[in-house]
Amino acid sequence: MVYCRECGELNRDGANYCLKCGSPLRGSEGEDTRPQPARMKAGPRTITLTASDDTENLGRLTPEILRMDNETLMKCNDEIKELVKKRRIRRGDFEGSMEELMAEIRSRLEALSGELRALSPQLLRVTVEIDRSKPDVKITTSLDKDRMEGYLEKIKSRQLSDQSLTTPSWRDLCPVCREAPLTPFPKRRVPGRSKRNMRCSNCGAVFIYKGNGYLLSRVSDKNTRAWRLYGGKTLTEEEWTRIANGGVSNELQREIQRKRDIEERRRDIEGWLKSAAEGNVTFREPQTPIILRKNERAVLVLHNIDLYEPRAVRRTAGGYGGPTIRVSKNLSFRMGALNAISESRDELRRIDTGTLTLTTRRMIFTGTKRTTNIDLRKVLAIQPYTNGIAVQRENKKRTEHFLNTEKTLLNITHSGRTHTVPADGAVMKAVIEGLIRKL
Ligand SMILES: [Zn+2]
Ligand SMILES: [Zn+2]
Repeated sequence: MVYCRECGELNRDGANYCLKCGSPLRGSEGEDTRPQPARMKAGPRTITLTASDDTENLGRLTPEILRMDNETLMKCNDEIKELVKKRRIRRGDFEGSMEELMAEIRSRLEALSGELRALSPQLLRVTVEIDRSKPDVKITTSLDKDRMEGYLEKIKSRQLSDQSLTTPSWRDLCPVCREAPLTPFPKRRVPGRSKRNMRCSNCGAVFIYKGNGYLLSRVSDKNTRAWRLYGGKTLTEEEWTRIANGGVSNELQREIQRKRDIEERRRDIEGWLKSAAEGNVTFREPQTPIILRKNERAVLVLHNIDLYEPRAVRRTAGGYGGPTIRVSKNLSFRMGALNAISESRDELRRIDTGTLTLTTRRMIFTGTKRTTNIDLRKVLAIQPYTNGIAVQRENKKRTEHFLNTEKTLLNITHSGRTHTVPADGAVMKAVIEGLIRKL
């Protein structure tokens, strides 16, 4: 029998770890094995297992590393659950079975030391509740929440402070595998060259010094994200350092930002159109020669607008059909009959060019030949086009098309952001709908 130095529990001969508290039993190494005052309790006992290594590497802690370490911990957690499931409890040897199980769990926990990049292996705790009287065992795993929150705080505060002061240089952390430092090569400085190439012995990454930066020329596994993004590219040391710390290159950053801007603009315009159609958008009142009525305000003035209306056209088209047969060098004639097509159909015809004024009550087109006054209450439908709108209204057979509206640019504001957008059909339709709604 071996006494535990930590808690005084009496353990089986040859046991490596204390069954009660999980401490290593070092009796076999000739250390103190004198009986300690035993604090053995009857009934269920609880043993907490953690890795012996409490090393944390806060210098490497980035959101990305935290995410990876968290995944590692979850994987370990799952594997321990699997160990518990697989473990058979031998009849008549409950103690022995428990000890083997705990040894397995412990060695799995110890393996975390080599797997975690920044977090302490002691973050994962396994609690073993043993009831020898039944016998029964209950195993639960948990993460040290306080400590995890501490890591999150650390990342947050670091993101606020100057990055370059706290994050490791790419020379200390390979940007490709982010697991090992780089080493310069060749061994000796090349005369006339201020810097040497760099390589990673862990992932085979080779960075060739190019004067303005370093070219990632080789890796052993081309299936990695880093190679796909940066293989064959020359980036500055600042960029490689950012990548080593979970960031991206300048080019990629710009690309991401550009996509974000486009998406943000799209969402803002969509939101603006919606609130415009609900009548919740106001415009600074523009100058207009139109004489406004009582309680009428000008909303938009668009110049160089073409008014198109459908007109019936009669068209006759004549021509020869059929293949040409060449009889001799100088003589050829066509087969088939002469076709004459006569049809009547509507064709959009430009009627006039002028100014379209939108007020809170009317749409007024003032052209060189014609002036049209449309009461918004009489508008039945508006069809939006990329370059304008078609308006159908009561007591007017022909649909009026106001085109070229998109040549006028509007500044719209949504969610506190201002965008310049062409007054295309969608914008015009939304504004007019909103005005009609507020009549
Ligand atoms: Zn013990
Ligand atoms: Zn590497």
